[in-house]
Amino acid sequence: MPRLARTLVRAQSLGVRVPAGAPGRRGGAGPSEGVTLLVSGRALCVPAFSGYVAQSPLSLEDLEGETWLCDAGKPVARAEVSCGGRFETRTTGTGERLSRHALLHGTDCLATTVFQTCVHWPRGSQCAFCGIRASLDAGTAVEQKSPPVLARAAALARDLDGATHAVLTTGGFGRDVRKLAILCACVEAVAGEGLAVHVQVEPPEDPGVLEMLASSGARTIGLHLESPDPDVLSRVAPAKAAMGKEAFLRAWRRAVDRFGENQVSTFYLAGLGETPDALLDGVRMAADLGVFPLVVPFRPVPGNQMAHSRPPSPEVLEDLYPKAGEILSRAGLHSQRSLAGCVRCGACSGYGWYEP
Ligand code: SF4
Repeated sequence: MPRLARTLVRAQSLGVRVPAGAPGRRGGAGPSEGVTLLVSGRALCVPAFSGYVAQSPLSLEDLEGETWLCDAGKPVARAEVSCGGRFETRTTGTGERLSRHALLHGTDCLATTVFQTCVHWPRGSQCAFCGIRASLDAGTAVEQKSPPVLARAAALARDLDGATHAVLTTGGFGRDVRKLAILCACVEAVAGEGLAVHVQVEPPEDPGVLEMLASSGARTIGLHLESPDPDVLSRVAPAKAAMGKEAFLRAWRRAVDRFGENQVSTFYLAGLGETPDALLDGVRMAADLGVFPLVVPFRPVPGNQMAHSRPPSPEVLEDLYPKAGEILSRAGLHSQRSLAGCVRCGACSGYGWYEP
């Protein structure tokens, strides 16, 4: 196994010690408490600010004026910490920083959470790993995004940062048709600026929802099961478990019919307590339907029920990624065939470094 890929997978599990003041992201969903490293022109999100990172053998060191990713003090690869998007420092028409509305993920992906709330939280059935409210509580994001502001962010991200695609995620909103209309308008606004749009929603019972999102301009869609293991799911994502795996499979089939093979995806969070075999079965199940299963190491988010858990061990992922790669390759699925979104960006997963 190439040494660099192994080191990067270890970096995602163990974290990387960074110099004080390194630009990064505290709180928030997804790649929280970490930095985005740029290595060989590709992006990789790694934990940097969580307590467990202090024990990591991996660090960023300044060696004769260049920054290197080091393992136990030995240089492995030149690396740079991403400072985020230039567009983020620009403002809305009312003088608010655009970083409160959207951020640059990876190297060329605009990312925003259209509704930073979720119907499952007030019911107490939220996912244990969820960080949807973290940046809201920290005062760094606005609760609901708007089409005109996202259009401005998209245009500036395109022109200043070379953004080519976008992720529009959202907390669950049930059957709220008003919120669906706003989400569609946001998709349309970002697509209107020339960015290929990826949208992430809960699997809708009504197939018309998929049609509305596609007609608004979404090119790819994420319908995230999170774990293929039903026991794990009922423990850490009770609302998704209650929907049932069948609801996801139905929505995946319909979405592949509308968006195409390789343009529908699911996240699988590794490290929630599932066995590696269960995860590989889940990879196979999705791939057989033309759905790209993006395996991402679980990352603890401050303030939620799993805040004190740890990411999975790197050995599990080093074993898993090549096996997942064989399954996806046989199914004709490839991250760079995805037109937009998390699969295309890939910075939250080490999979891309092993992809055939
Ligand atoms: S569905 Fe789960 S992960 Fe998604 S926003 Fe709601 S609680 Fe969070």
